[in-house]
Amino acid sequence: MKSSVLRIAGLTVEACGVVFDKDGTLVDFHRVWGPRMERSANTLLEASGLGEDFLVHLYRTVGYEATTGNTLGQGPLATAPLQQLTVVVASALFQHGLAWDRACELANHCVVPAMTAAPTPEEIAPRGNVATALLKLIDAGCFVSVATTDNRAATEVMLRHLHIEDCFTSIHCGDDPGPVKPDTRVLDDIAQSQGVDLSQLIMVGDTVSDMVMARNAGVCLGVGITGGAGSDEELAAHADVLIKDISEIYPGATA
Ligand SMILES: [Mg+2]
Repeated sequence: MKSSVLRIAGLTVEACGVVFDKDGTLVDFHRVWGPRMERSANTLLEASGLGEDFLVHLYRTVGYEATTGNTLGQGPLATAPLQQLTVVVASALFQHGLAWDRACELANHCVVPAMTAAPTPEEIAPRGNVATALLKLIDAGCFVSVATTDNRAATEVMLRHLHIEDCFTSIHCGDDPGPVKPDTRVLDDIAQSQGVDLSQLIMVGDTVSDMVMARNAGVCLGVGITGGAGSDEELAAHADVLIKDISEIYPGATA
């Protein structure tokens, strides 16, 4: 596959494909996951009979600051697939005196429905003009893929809502069989399926987890999106370059 010349925040790179994280990269992270965590927590409080101290402990455990609505970039809420998040919540319940079986039952009963509900239009806010940015890359001969830890059903609803579901050569979700982010085999699989080398891929994401995966996999560039989960400072330490939204990745003339 022929590579394309891309410009990214003053850098010029040659790549065959760009892999995008979803939450915080294609769509606003905070619009969805903070409110869903709070809904889960309130249902848990009611069902468990535990008090406010549990709520404080739960938010600290999943990496969420209710006072600011911030999600910690390197915490479970920001990066873990739902199955892991449920275990994290069950652990917090266990630490507050519930038997493990009951803790797991409550975590499944209270967290999974809130987290897997079909995204509403109000929850889906694109990070800039994502459709135009993606089409420019595709027109330049680049393939684009999605790698997310979110579930497939929710992912497809969001991409469809943004009218970008047909843009992607492949979409890798948290509940798919096989490796899940931040396993570097996700990027391996994408490269192999397109017949390109890992060094011809660019990974774009809003978390340290995405950037570390990119670096460990050996892709040509890890691009951090600011304003997602976590702080810009922690992202900067692991990204090759930071941008505000994906429109800052565009085809350029040969260097
Ligand atoms: Mg993300």
